[in-house]
Amino acid sequence: MKSERPHSPSPPLHDIAINKRRLLRDLNAVSRIGIGDHGSVTRLVFSIKELRSRQFLIHQMQEIGLQVHIDRIGNIFGRLDGTNAKSAALLVGSHLDTVVHGGRFDGTLGVIAALEAVRILKEQKIVLLSPVEVVCFVGEESSRFGYSTLGSSLVAGEVQGKDLAHAADAQGIKLEDILASMGIYRNHLPSMRRDPSTIKAYLELHIEQGPILEAKKKPIGIVTSIAAPTRFRVVFTGQANHSGTTPMEMRRDALVAASELIVAVEKICRKYSHMKKGRVVGTVGAMKIEPGIINAIPGKAELSVDVRSITANAKRRVVRLVQARIREIARRRKIRAEILPLREEYPVLLDKRLIRLLQACCKSRSITYEIMPSGAGHDAMQMAKVTPAAMLFIPSRRGISHSPLEWSEPEDICLGAQLLLDSIIRIGNETT
Ligand SMILES: [Zn+2]
Repeated sequence: MKSERPHSPSPPLHDIAINKRRLLRDLNAVSRIGIGDHGSVTRLVFSIKELRSRQFLIHQMQEIGLQVHIDRIGNIFGRLDGTNAKSAALLVGSHLDTVVHGGRFDGTLGVIAALEAVRILKEQKIVLLSPVEVVCFVGEESSRFGYSTLGSSLVAGEVQGKDLAHAADAQGIKLEDILASMGIYRNHLPSMRRDPSTIKAYLELHIEQGPILEAKKKPIGIVTSIAAPTRFRVVFTGQANHSGTTPMEMRRDALVAASELIVAVEKICRKYSHMKKGRVVGTVGAMKIEPGIINAIPGKAELSVDVRSITANAKRRVVRLVQARIREIARRRKIRAEILPLREEYPVLLDKRLIRLLQACCKSRSITYEIMPSGAGHDAMQMAKVTPAAMLFIPSRRGISHSPLEWSEPEDICLGAQLLLDSIIRIGNETT
């Protein structure tokens, strides 16, 4: 289509470098918010620590002179204008919330690297064609409510009122009630969506959270697709009773039923774990037992099930097998089983053209890269539904994340941020 004229000629890409010291300093500053034992970081969504980290970001954005916009849920957008006032904005970012006892880079890297990239543009007075917005999405992690990518899902218009019904934290606080306290009710959900015509593309830098890049000794991963989870809670209800007086054959033990299910999830997923297309992984990661005392037969056991795959069909088959097994266990043991759906997501493909563009960015700096899928979910998964989206990975030491042992080398962090800046400049200067 028509090209815009004339925007300031950019210096060659290689001359525009991020400030490594400042990037690492900012990452450090954020990791101190919510720091705990053994260097773990805990910033659960809507906790004071998470709010403080968002405050830190807002402050940094204001210092640079970005126009800060915060939507009703608390997603933060820091905007740097382009030469074309009518152009849609390139969104770049990730999230600042963490799991309980998580690491310092998951999410934070993507937000702080985007901030550094835009700070360089501002300092070097490089004005791109399109506006660039540094984004921090609220509540990417599902560890509090069992509901992932909350902020980006709202921006993409992907939150369904019915999905929120079973989302509650360990204290029983409902996500729906928290949203209501912010004035967001079910009927407001569609209006939280951002008009896709205002978004040119979405870019996210993230740690790999897996072992591939380290094993292949490659500093950069370019993501092709993101596996999506199907999640549900299972509640087994038997009969709590005295552990001394109830004969074995007369028990209706909810926890033993739950244990059968846990083993079944592993068995079924293992059958599907070696398939070339459609590797499936499944996890029971949380459980609550009642009454949970040494001298009583458990009357109630509540479990979470999380099944993921890059292939929708394989995932669907596994979910069907697991749910059939739940009903079989309940029938045989004469206890009640409820399956409460939490979320059903479909695997997402990232934008082919942007993947090629990221490859070109790597090549122009002679960086080796791996083209790979992502087993973990990310905000990019939601954004890909409304705009061309792409992701860069950097290696995670021993593939560990969601742990204080999560680590990425400063050298890789800086390289990832540099490539993010390179790609921002290229995409930002593209005419659409
Ligand atoms: Zn993350």
